[in-house]
Amino acid sequence: RSWAESSIPKELLEVVDKVGYKEPSAIQRQAIPIGLQNRDIIGIAETGSGKTAAFVIPMLAFISSMPPFTDDIRHLGPYALILAPTRELAQQIETEARKFASPLGFTCVSIVGGRAVEEQQFNLREGAEIIIATPGRLKDVLERHVLVLSQCRYIVMDEADRMVHLGFEADLLFILDKLPSETMAGEDTGMMEVDVGGEDGDGGERVEVRRGRTRVTTLFSATMPPAVERLARKYLKRPAIITI
Ligand code: AMP
Repeated sequence: RSWAESSIPKELLEVVDKVGYKEPSAIQRQAIPIGLQNRDIIGIAETGSGKTAAFVIPMLAFISSMPPFTDDIRHLGPYALILAPTRELAQQIETEARKFASPLGFTCVSIVGGRAVEEQQFNLREGAEIIIATPGRLKDVLERHVLVLSQCRYIVMDEADRMVHLGFEADLLFILDKLPSETMAGEDTGMMEVDVGGEDGDGGERVEVRRGRTRVTTLFSATMPPAVERLARKYLKRPAIITI
């Protein structure tokens, strides 16, 4: 199957074409259509499989559906967060994410250890739709109240098993508990009523609109140790499990 058959929005398809990826990889073929439905995903995949683009492309489609990142909302924090175990991996992800995000006008900022916090604070000044972070440094920045995650609704945990092995489980819990809650009250009904056309005083008409998910959580891991399973059970909702 080709990119054109993958239900990617047209503007993103043009970016994929510009980036020059001729064919989707196996993980991309499986994960992108599910990610585009805003479903939670557990992906069992190794580096080199093309997993970064597999989560970045649906994430960008999600961000494109959000209100433009104007001055009055950028201080509420990023729309999307990617967590990775090491600075090196975070930087690789940033490079890959920028290829797709920059042509769409979205900003990526990384928050990683080993560089001055002040420099990263400076990079956050203008706001960014996408933050790529290691858990320890992100927790530090959140505790300093330099960054809030009050509108962060798309979370990717990459190489979750390595994050746990490196001792980041408590930091992950701290960060994930700062995010907007997974579902809106009443989501199970699937529907909500919205008043439209009320401005002219006629009260408008009641229409039913399907409530969207309010948080999408994706977890990639090469293995599934108990600590990663615990994370998945606590923070993912009816995930699709993709193994390649
Ligand atoms: P990853 O597994 O995400 O670290 O990606 C491994 C490498 O494959 C990166 O250098 C990507 O730029 C590249 N890549 C990812 N997807 C594709 C694709 N569909 N076609 C060609 N190269 C790709």
